[in-house]
Amino acid sequence: PGLAVIIVGEDPASQTYVSNKEKTSKKLGFYSEVHRLPEEVSQEEVLQMVHRLNSDDNIHGILVQLPLPKHIQEEPIIHAILPEKDVDGFHPVNLGNLMIGAQSYIPCTPHGVIKMLEYINYDLKGKNATVVGRSNIVGKPVALLLLERHATVTICHSRTQNLPEICRRADVLVVAVGRPEMVKGDWIKPGAVVIDVGINSVDGKLVGDVDFEAASKVAGYISPVPGGVGPMTITMLMVNTLQSFKNKYNLK
Ligand code: NDP
Repeated sequence: PGLAVIIVGEDPASQTYVSNKEKTSKKLGFYSEVHRLPEEVSQEEVLQMVHRLNSDDNIHGILVQLPLPKHIQEEPIIHAILPEKDVDGFHPVNLGNLMIGAQSYIPCTPHGVIKMLEYINYDLKGKNATVVGRSNIVGKPVALLLLERHATVTICHSRTQNLPEICRRADVLVVAVGRPEMVKGDWIKPGAVVIDVGINSVDGKLVGDVDFEAASKVAGYISPVPGGVGPMTITMLMVNTLQSFKNKYNLK
C-alpha cells in the first residue's frame, strides 16, 4: 500500500503529525511519500500535485495535512482528491456515504474513537452518548457513528447551555473541543467511558480537553492525552490506506 502526504508550511504540530504518519507507514512496510511544500506555494500548485497523485498507481491513499495556510482554500483541495484515495475520509462523497450508513472511508479520528469502544466490548445500544464539539472532521462524524450503533446521541457546542449537567448524564462522553482540561471531574457520571480527543499544548506539555487527574477517579474508562486518540488516528489512517489497496486489487 502506498500513502502520500502533502504538507504545506512549517507549523510545528503539523510537522510532528506528518512525521509520525511517515514513521508508522514505514514501520508497516507501506510505500510512503511526503511532499513538503513551502508556505508560499500557490493553490494551483497544490492542486496539480493532488492530480498527479490521483493518477499515480503506486499511491492508494492521499492525505493533505490541515490546516493549510490562509491563502489556500481547503475545500477545492480536498474535493480534488479521488474519493477512492481519500483515506482521511474528508471528501464529501465519503462524508455523504457515512451520513447514509453506506460503505466509506471513515474519518480517522472518529474511527479511532469507535475502535476504542469496540476494544472494550462496549455495547452502545440505548446508552446516552454525548459528543462535545461539532466539527466536520471530529464531532459530527463521531456523533453519526455512535448513532449508527444505536446510542442516544447528544451533540454539544459553544452555545450549549448547562454543559456540565448534560455531560453528567452521559454513559459515553467524547470531547473534541480544543480547550485544555475544560471538562472537570465532577462533570463525569460515575463509571462512564470518557474519550478525550483534544490536544492542547500548555507550557510545552500536551494535555487533553478533560482534567484527566480528576476525571480518571470517577470514570470507568478514560483515554489519556497523549497516548490515546492520537495514535488511534494514525492507526486508522493505515487501515484506510490498506483498505484502499485491497479495494483496488479486489483483495479480501
Ligand atoms: P474545531 O475547532 O473545529 O471544533 C471545536 C468544537 O468545539 C466546535 O464545535 C466548537 O463549537 C466547540 N467548542 C468550542 N468551545 C466550546 C465550549 N466552551 N463548550 C462547548 N463546545 C465548545 O476543532 P476540531 O474538532 O478540529 O478539534 C478538536 C480538538 O481535537 C482539538 O484540540 C484538536 O487539536 C484535537 N484533534 C485531535 C486529533 C487526534 O488525532 N487526537 C485529530 C483532530 C483534532 P462551535 O461549533 O459552536 O464553534
